[in-house]
Amino acid sequence: MERVKVAVVGGGITGLAAAYELHQQGVHFRLFETSDRLGGLILTEKHNGFTIDAGPDSLLVQKPSAIELCQELGLGERLQPTLTPRTAYILKQGVLHALPETSVLGIPTRLTPLFTSELLSPFGRLRFALDLILPPRHMASLEDESIADFFTRRFGKESVAYLAEPLLATIHAGDVNRLSMRALFPRLLETEQSHGSLIRGLNRRGAASMADGMFRSLPGGLGEMTEALASALPAECLSRSTRVISIDEDDPFVIRTTGDITVASAVILAIPASSAAVLLETRHPKLAKRCLEIPHNSTATVALTYPRSAIKHALLGSGFVVPRVETGLSIIAATWVSSKWPGRAPAEKVLIRAFIGGARDPDILSRIPNDEDLAHLAHRNLARILKIECYPQFSRVYRWKNRSPQYEVGHLERLASIDHELQHTPGLFITGTSFRGIGIPDCIAEGRATARSASEGL
Ligand SMILES: Cc1cc2nc3c(=O)[nH]c(=O)nc-3n(C[C@H](O)[C@H](O)[C@H](O)COP(=O)(O)OP(=O)(O)OC[C@H]3O[C@@H](n4cnc5c(N)ncnc54)[C@H](O)[C@@H]3O)c2cc1C
Repeated sequence: MERVKVAVVGGGITGLAAAYELHQQGVHFRLFETSDRLGGLILTEKHNGFTIDAGPDSLLVQKPSAIELCQELGLGERLQPTLTPRTAYILKQGVLHALPETSVLGIPTRLTPLFTSELLSPFGRLRFALDLILPPRHMASLEDESIADFFTRRFGKESVAYLAEPLLATIHAGDVNRLSMRALFPRLLETEQSHGSLIRGLNRRGAASMADGMFRSLPGGLGEMTEALASALPAECLSRSTRVISIDEDDPFVIRTTGDITVASAVILAIPASSAAVLLETRHPKLAKRCLEIPHNSTATVALTYPRSAIKHALLGSGFVVPRVETGLSIIAATWVSSKWPGRAPAEKVLIRAFIGGARDPDILSRIPNDEDLAHLAHRNLARILKIECYPQFSRVYRWKNRSPQYEVGHLERLASIDHELQHTPGLFITGTSFRGIGIPDCIAEGRATARSASEGL
């Protein structure tokens, strides 16, 4: 039986960031990870000159914690911006329309690009521009609202169908009518309160003008970051292929794993909410129940490679999203990886990642259990939109079952009640993407902050 100060459960980016912070502070820890691989959703594979990110591929610059961590790990010089042009497209009636230039989270910050784009109808554009004169929502009625309600109120219904739904809900594999503005886009709400108009407010903040674009990655894919992070930790403190089965007693905590028993003064759970619920249900049934109230959707990433000459579309941009109102397609979005990042494919070859599932088709992964069938479906959809004249030369499917948390309306209240319950168990901490980490930067910031709280309480 080993005794440590802090046990970290989960070796995704949140758990790794927590362990890194503990190590920086000189706190003796052990990290447990079910899989034989660290990184969780962050996984990069190499195949015949292609670099394929199976899950996330981008670090958002505006939230600096991921960039800062890369710099601390000595990867600062290797961070690379997206290639130009950075145009993202939206499918409308079979045609890819460029997202109006100078858009922030789907909101054009100037009227000229909006009015010269055919993405919205003439009426839709006028209704969108009404945002300039609409007053902000009354402070007294500031309860949570869905993304769809917010966009309908500010910009009209058409903006929900062709901007908010495909851009803001699809990236979270979620339902635009259920996802929470307060949990996911608090800055947009602040901008409304401070400026009234979102168009004017985002324009004044200069939010759209980042010379090198809003995202960064690494030449070896984001797996390079988690590998560097794991290498910065003492190897003897990392237990791979070790699932935590139960956590007993509160002082100290007794952690049973598939391998051994460990005793710790504090425990950080950095695992999906459903896995946390399993560990909590015996001793903390209320906490387990709250965890299970956070829904998760399933998606698949389908990576496909083609010869450049077989694709008629110019692929000048980062990729496209498919609005729900565009019927007859199974893919919800696609990234033109070899146009978005340098060095991800050999010369004259193209790497595309298509995304399937989410709230749009929650059962598709179980309905299509065969990877080849799923890849073929993604290819047929892409071939129609991009005019591809041959079958993919290589395909790979990554299934992410129940791995996309849904921060639905009321999410922040659910978190508050989890925090309240946790007060009864000093030394127990819950963090990770299901709770306050919708993307990598938030996971890193939360993982590190949780580690600091855990070490302060020792
Ligand atoms: C397809 C896709 C694309 C995305 N794209 C982006 C993007 O481009 N940029 C971005 O910022 N974010 C993106 N995200 C979100 C981002 O990937 C996540 O927010 C982040 O990686 C979550 O990290 P995590 O450590 O909290 O969870 P996870 O990565 O899920 O890690 C949790 C770990 O806990 C382990 N575990 C579970 N139970 C136990 C147990 N009992 N004992 C031990 N270990 C256990 C699991 O095996 C897993 O490794 C994307 C997500 C998906 C699904």
